[in-house]
Amino acid sequence: MWSYQHSTFQIHQLPALNDNYIYLIEATTCDVLAVIDPADASIVNQACQKLGKPLTHILNTHHHWDHTDGNQALKQRWNCTVLGAAHDAERIPCIDVKVLPEQAFQLGDLAVNILDVGGHTLGHIAYVLDDALFCGDALFGAGCGRIFEGTLEQTWQSLQRLAQLDDDTKVYCAHEYTLPNLRFARAVDANNEALKARIHRDTQTRMQQNPTIPSTISIEKATNPFLRPLDADFCTEYAQSNHIDDTALNVFTHLRQTKG
Ligand SMILES: [Zn+2]
Repeated sequence: MWSYQHSTFQIHQLPALNDNYIYLIEATTCDVLAVIDPADASIVNQACQKLGKPLTHILNTHHHWDHTDGNQALKQRWNCTVLGAAHDAERIPCIDVKVLPEQAFQLGDLAVNILDVGGHTLGHIAYVLDDALFCGDALFGAGCGRIFEGTLEQTWQSLQRLAQLDDDTKVYCAHEYTLPNLRFARAVDANNEALKARIHRDTQTRMQQNPTIPSTISIEKATNPFLRPLDADFCTEYAQSNHIDDTALNVFTHLRQTKG
């Protein structure tokens, strides 16, 4: 378990399954202890025991099983409140509160904003608490989720929404995919100095068996190939070498289809 101090809460990062991360948000000024995307109930239970606190909320970013599998057992054990996108209400086990994109609400003392990040799934949402972004499978370290339900255009809109967050926003995504993603990034963005530095840094981090996550919005804007189309020079260069039109959507589409 790795822990990170934010203004009025701590975030605990729990590795689960092969490469998932589950996050616990522990408020410092109220009794809220919320879990984001509990892939595995037993891991969450162990962490709650270690913290000596009951689980109060489950926040799901989308309906995939590796984000919701723990819902039922945790609900049974803690009688916690389950929140998820209204769009996915049928597919999120034990959902109590159906939330909408752009909605803002309080979890005890903690202010939460919801962003629509549809694309990977149609109802995919992200939760923003202060300078912490929980984006599930919408944005990864140096990557983005495969598009299972949405369109390329919708996914590009969603990524642009995330890119508008403050540069120092911490990106708590749901998988440790960064190193394989960086290999693709290097292949399509070979002259990017920030990318070279990140590859060096994140490779060392993984060798020490530490997470590369959280990254920040500013690191992702500088190095993530699926946010690089925000840079007009990158678009021009990429479009020329791939013989396509240099609009950002076009370049994003080509990158997403090339990665497969
Ligand atoms: Zn997913």
